[in-house]
Amino acid sequence: MARPPTDRESAFRLLPAMDELLRAPRAAALCARAPRALVQELAAAELAAWRDDIKAGRLDAAELEARLAAGELFTRLEQRLARELGRGVVRAVNASGVVLNTGLGRAPVHPEAAEAMRVAAESYCVLEVDRWSGERNQRDDYLSDLLRRLTGAEAGIGVNNNAGAVLLLFSTFAQGRSAIVSRGELVEIGGSFRVPNVMERAGAELVEVGTTNRTRLADYASAIDARTGLLIKVHTSNFRVVGFTEEATADELARLGRERGVTSAYDLGSGLWEGDGAPALAPLLGGEPLLLDAVKSGVDVVTFSGDKLLGGPQAGLLVGRRATIAALRKNPLYRALRLDKVALAGLEKTLELLLAGRGAELPARAMLAATANELRPRAEELQRALSALPGLALELVSEGSQPGSGSAPGVLLPTWAVRVRPARGSAGALAARLRAAPVPVFTRVQDDAVLLDPRTLLPGDLERLVDAFRGALAGS
Ligand SMILES: *Cc1c(COP(=O)(O)O)cnc(C)c1O
Repeated sequence: MARPPTDRESAFRLLPAMDELLRAPRAAALCARAPRALVQELAAAELAAWRDDIKAGRLDAAELEARLAAGELFTRLEQRLARELGRGVVRAVNASGVVLNTGLGRAPVHPEAAEAMRVAAESYCVLEVDRWSGERNQRDDYLSDLLRRLTGAEAGIGVNNNAGAVLLLFSTFAQGRSAIVSRGELVEIGGSFRVPNVMERAGAELVEVGTTNRTRLADYASAIDARTGLLIKVHTSNFRVVGFTEEATADELARLGRERGVTSAYDLGSGLWEGDGAPALAPLLGGEPLLLDAVKSGVDVVTFSGDKLLGGPQAGLLVGRRATIAALRKNPLYRALRLDKVALAGLEKTLELLLAGRGAELPARAMLAATANELRPRAEELQRALSALPGLALELVSEGSQPGSGSAPGVLLPTWAVRVRPARGSAGALAARLRAAPVPVFTRVQDDAVLLDPRTLLPGDLERLVDAFRGALAGS
């Protein structure tokens, strides 16, 4: 006589087999909307989750039967598929007020730069050929000239991002040798970019000088020996050391490098450019170093990002002496790190706009420059639009927006925000539903309220935001 099955065994037997599950009308409907293999993959994951619950004793046969009868297996499968189809790089609304929001792609580019990127992506383009002579050339010859005109440096070169620029720098000048860095500047930038780790991967030995809060020029000078390949100053982008502090200036480092025949460099990170037609961001950003000052200091090379305060697509830019840039270009790593045609097209257009005195039009720079007085009517408009929806308590509040991406830490740009408290449910739950909207909306949750900052809204975002709220409230 076979023993009767345990409750757990009965529960396992209730779960449908994959074939049977996929034949059911609700699963068949999903297979009409998405590849069958994908629906099957998600169904397998859902069944596995139910099996885990049975195994762990969280789900008994009676409960399982009730859930199956209610169609819950299919409801969950539909949810899984909806999530899967909303994955990837899709448009989002940034209502967080964090301008260079790394999670949301940092600087949105100017529409003309976006158009140049679209054209480069969908057509052939003049990339590594001189259209007048028909001869091959370097893909960033023109970029080099734009960077020269913009910064006053002799030449420039572009790579995939600033982390790549710094890697190329260490690899070119300090591989098998050493690089001297201040202890106060051994920074970690978000996303696990640590200066000492990058140096190690580039095969450079790290020589630390000074202390966390004070490093003098003499510290660098006495550390230079026959192995020294690079003197580098790193902008401590995302933190500030305050109080009893001292650091060598870029000018001093440049002079020391020249005297001792060692290459000098300044990793600027944000790359704040100030010039004709650009809004004066420096006074707003609390002493963020300027690109033009860094170049003028005389260091051999300056590195910075394309998608931070410059306001362009993702890129790492190196500008400096012609011979220094030529050495970087000869490094085989350059070939591995070079810019793709789409980013290059967007970057060229961004630099052209800056050179044409149209820097104020670059979205990230315009957002940073917006004053509280300019933002107030936009916050009011947002409040009015949301007041048409039921179940929300709305309030206009004086707030601060963050520049983001480690630019100007501790700086808050005065803004007006709309504080939203839902009549039902928590602010966190509302924020989660807004992120799940067809066009996801990212907000700030503070003191159990959802905070909407108009500073980072782009044209058309107000309507998208209101749509997301409408959906979120309907589904709550
Ligand atoms: C942001 C930053 C980097 C990394 O730049 P990415 O463009 O993000 O790769 C490197 N150094 C400094 C000082 C930075 O601020």
